Amino acid sequence: MPLLKIVHYPEPVLLTVGRPVSDEMFANGLAKTVDDMFETMYAAGGVGLAAPQVGLSQRFFVMDVPDEDGKPNKLAFFNPEILRVEGEQTGDEGCLSFPGLYQTVRRDMRVIVKAQDVQGTDIELDLDGLAARCVLHETDHCDGIVFLDRMTVLKREMAKRKIKRLQKTGKWE
Ligand SMILES: [Zn+2]
Repeated sequence: MPLLKIVHYPEPVLLTVGRPVSDEMFANGLAKTVDDMFETMYAAGGVGLAAPQVGLSQRFFVMDVPDEDGKPNKLAFFNPEILRVEGEQTGDEGCLSFPGLYQTVRRDMRVIVKAQDVQGTDIELDLDGLAARCVLHETDHCDGIVFLDRMTVLKREMAKRKIKRLQKTGKWE
């Protein structure tokens, strides 16, 4: 199965608010799209991948933040909505649409997120740590927000300079 093409910043689709996933789309079936996205995400070595990152301006994403014992944790979120947040965490973050760029980003430590699963059924999850970070990062993608927007001004300037350097050397297209 061919992998999907991951678009890189500053592709306009990454900076556009995604359209809600409609009842019609659920009825037509989204399982294959989800499978393709997981495969693309694993091949690229990521833990999350949102529809806009593969050029689809829609509100959904897949993620797999393994358990402590390394057990996979495949989840797909459609029309995600952050209901509650608590605490905070600071750590390095990367993004498959920003190849080679890692930067410190402050995020909430715990999130309660409401969404629909691949069948369109309502789900609600309570997640913390890396899983919470991932949900926040990917929900941002659905809103046309990239992690650059979540950095401090100083870190964002550093990141932009690094992106320019990577673009010049052809490691970013
Ligand atoms: Zn990302």
